[in-house]
Amino acid sequence: MNKMTIDDINLKSKNVLVRVDFNVPIENGLVTDSTRIIESLPTIKKIISEGGRAILMSHLGRPKGKPDPKYSLLPVAKRASELLGIEVKFANDCIGEVAKKAVNSLKDGECLLLENLRFHPEEEENKEAFARELASLGDIYVNDAFGSAHRAHASTEGITKFIKPAVAGYLMQKELNYLGKALENPDRPFTAILGGAKVSGKIDVIQNLMNKVDTLIIGGGMAYTFFKAQGFEVGNSLVESDKLDLAKSILTEVKNKRIKFLLPVDCVIADEFKDDAHKEVVKISAIKPGWQGMDIGPESIKIFSEEILKSKTIVWNGPMGVFEMENFAVGTYEIAKSLALATKNGAITIVGGGDSAAAITKFGLEKSVSHVSTGGGASLEFLEGKVLPGVAALTNK
Ligand code: AMP
Repeated sequence: MNKMTIDDINLKSKNVLVRVDFNVPIENGLVTDSTRIIESLPTIKKIISEGGRAILMSHLGRPKGKPDPKYSLLPVAKRASELLGIEVKFANDCIGEVAKKAVNSLKDGECLLLENLRFHPEEEENKEAFARELASLGDIYVNDAFGSAHRAHASTEGITKFIKPAVAGYLMQKELNYLGKALENPDRPFTAILGGAKVSGKIDVIQNLMNKVDTLIIGGGMAYTFFKAQGFEVGNSLVESDKLDLAKSILTEVKNKRIKFLLPVDCVIADEFKDDAHKEVVKISAIKPGWQGMDIGPESIKIFSEEILKSKTIVWNGPMGVFEMENFAVGTYEIAKSLALATKNGAITIVGGGDSAAAITKFGLEKSVSHVSTGGGASLEFLEGKVLPGVAALTNK
């Protein structure tokens, strides 16, 4: 990576302003999933152990540009204190006198969390005056919020114009290293597995990956648009009628490239979109009118898994079926298990954020793959080949 990192700077007695992604689920004032906080601990520990003053800033939810107690980061400060083992102080605002006072009272090796950045509309509008105010709180800027790096907001992009150096934290570095190596210099064979609901959300990913992978596997709801484009009966399966031509052109394009393009050969169909619907395993050519494809079938699992186990680098984004329903989670579970086995055999396995991360965590296999991205939208944009503004804005080495 050609960007400066937290290892390139002296942190002692510095006000280190860190953009973290503490956008975590909270219920009844308690954080219910601390993954994102835990993932940023190495960066925070590095700052405090070297005698820097860690000033953390984050967004939480969508408070619509004004303070809303529902979206306060105070419960996160409490949870971060427990995880860090020292008190994470809290400022009721991320700018103005409140923030300045809290920053000025920090001692070396202490940590402070500022209130939700999105209580100010200027954060998402990337307003210069707001970015300048944020920047005035620190001597050094660290971005550890990979999950927000695809947004050019004041705390991820605007701020870097007013505070130098702007460096990557450990989590940011880890995400970029895994995803970057996979796309730029993968150990081959390189397989990408794409699933999820719609083709439309993943067109750019398909088009970018087509030029990089050896094998592209498509599962989930998005496969049915391809089946329909091939002339199959798909019943009530999820189909994007306005994407049929696109699916056809993708099918032609992959034929012209020397890559393997695998669609499911069988699927689990249901007579209703619910967990206890009647279900049947059928060949793709035998989907019944009125029924809908909910999961990949056993033959597809076998073919996909064999391909996964032959690969040295695997990127997975999007579930193979409606994994939220127990009866249609098998395909996603089996693919997750194959990824875990491939990892054990030495492959590099990367799970994109969002639903595939949720799925692998649900199956308890998140520690059995090389890397689970903390950023759904950000990892998707990275896989699309886009430059993430929050990364581009960091200081070059
Ligand atoms: P995405 O956000 O595009 O990755 O889509 C994830 C969603 O796709 C999950 O909520 C899954 O339930 C859904 N999904 C996967 N396969 C199917 C399918 N065959 N039919 C309908 N929805 C699906």
